[in-house]
Amino acid sequence: MGEKSRLAVRCCNCFLRIPIQPKTERATCPRCNIEYRIAWVSPDQPLIRGPAKWPEG
Ligand SMILES: [Zn+2]
Repeated sequence: MGEKSRLAVRCCNCFLRIPIQPKTERATCPRCNIEYRIAWVSPDQPLIRGPAKWPEG
């Protein structure tokens, strides 16, 4: 019963774990509906770089 990598990042706003796909560049928090840009420190270590879109106004 091998476990595949469970890739996830933590929402900066609500701290919910957001599951993501390998090599994806964007992830959206299902609770906040905020889209984040994802950077990859290594193939199995994702990191939130910041919001994909800066809030306007
Ligand atoms: Zn959130």
